[in-house]
Amino acid sequence: MKKIPVGVLGATGMVGQRFLSLLIDHPYFEVTVVAASERSAGKTLAEAGRWMIGGEMPSQFAKMTVQPVDQVGDVGLVFSALPSDAAGPTEIAWAKSGALVFSNAGAHRRDPLVPLLVPEVNPDHVNLLELQRQHYGWSGGILTNPNCTTTHAVLPMRALHDAFGLSKVLLVSMQAISGAGYPGVPSLDIIDNVVPLIKGEEEKVEWEPRKLLGTLGAQGVEEAQITISAHCNRVAVIDGHTECLSLAFERPPADEAELIAALREFKAEPQTLNLPSAPTHPILVTELADGPQPRRDRDAERGMATTVGRVRRCPILDYKLVLLGHNTLRGAAGGSLLNAELMVAKGLIKA
Ligand code: NAP
Repeated sequence: MKKIPVGVLGATGMVGQRFLSLLIDHPYFEVTVVAASERSAGKTLAEAGRWMIGGEMPSQFAKMTVQPVDQVGDVGLVFSALPSDAAGPTEIAWAKSGALVFSNAGAHRRDPLVPLLVPEVNPDHVNLLELQRQHYGWSGGILTNPNCTTTHAVLPMRALHDAFGLSKVLLVSMQAISGAGYPGVPSLDIIDNVVPLIKGEEEKVEWEPRKLLGTLGAQGVEEAQITISAHCNRVAVIDGHTECLSLAFERPPADEAELIAALREFKAEPQTLNLPSAPTHPILVTELADGPQPRRDRDAERGMATTVGRVRRCPILDYKLVLLGHNTLRGAAGGSLLNAELMVAKGLIKA
């Protein structure tokens, strides 16, 4: 197919660089616009900052000139890796100009007319876009992916909610420092330390799965009635969020094996449609007694899978488990890219 020209907003940041790396030789998309703050605009990407995600900056990007993010109109599709405050007005400007915006930021996730999307979890929610366009009069639109911690939790939650009816979740996260972007958490705060506060994070993790697992009706999404309590901590790991979950069900599985089978058998639209970035197994279950672990499991399925382990009975709720996933791949740029691939495969974006 003819490749679709795309822009990356926030191309100099941690998530922006992940987008660029995932878009090298992508079968649907080709990066023609890179944009960032006034600090970087007018410079080449190589001049604007260093490549933070390993290896050299790919040569096809190094000489591209960084545009200001408010210079809208050159492309019909943009991936946004902007901080929330900048994303709010900027993404609306792009949507008004006719572009489809795939956003990683929190700014528009709560808007009832903006899809909060994980393609394995709620692919039908893309249909909200039509209501959004009618309501706001935009020719483009905004679609978001959830917070990185939510993304990895909601994959097993989808599988388990379908099989056993989730009613309560207690979630404790140990989140990597790359989740705070670059330069992120000062080294003197995080080395030899755990920081038990990530501002705004617990609130996001407690409501986003309810929208994701909700039901789309004529008026929008009716949230799933699941009570979630989250404790979010920053730990001295570079990439990969670890999350400990205790879960209560309406119809609890008979034993650990039944719960594990529901996770292992889970497949969804991205796998059926064979989307380029889709993991073969969105949920992996590790047999290792001390797994999953960030260094060992974060790159599973090119960083696009969630690995679950340590499934066991919980004396307070029904069962407990540990999960792990890459925060800047499936948890950010990879998740957003999969959303765009889903729309191409459904014929909602054309070259
Ligand atoms: P980051 O490393 O701090 O990068 C921020 C990017 O936005 C840079 O390109 C920066 O450009 C640009 N920018 C900053 N302020 C701007 C402004 N006022 N106007 C225009 N551009 C501006 O942050 P990140 O970790 O990549 O996060 C990007 C977004 O993704 C955030 O909304 C974050 O919450 C979300 N997210 C991050 C993760 C993760 O694991 N890191 C996961 C999920 C979601 P300059 O270089 O020119 O300053």
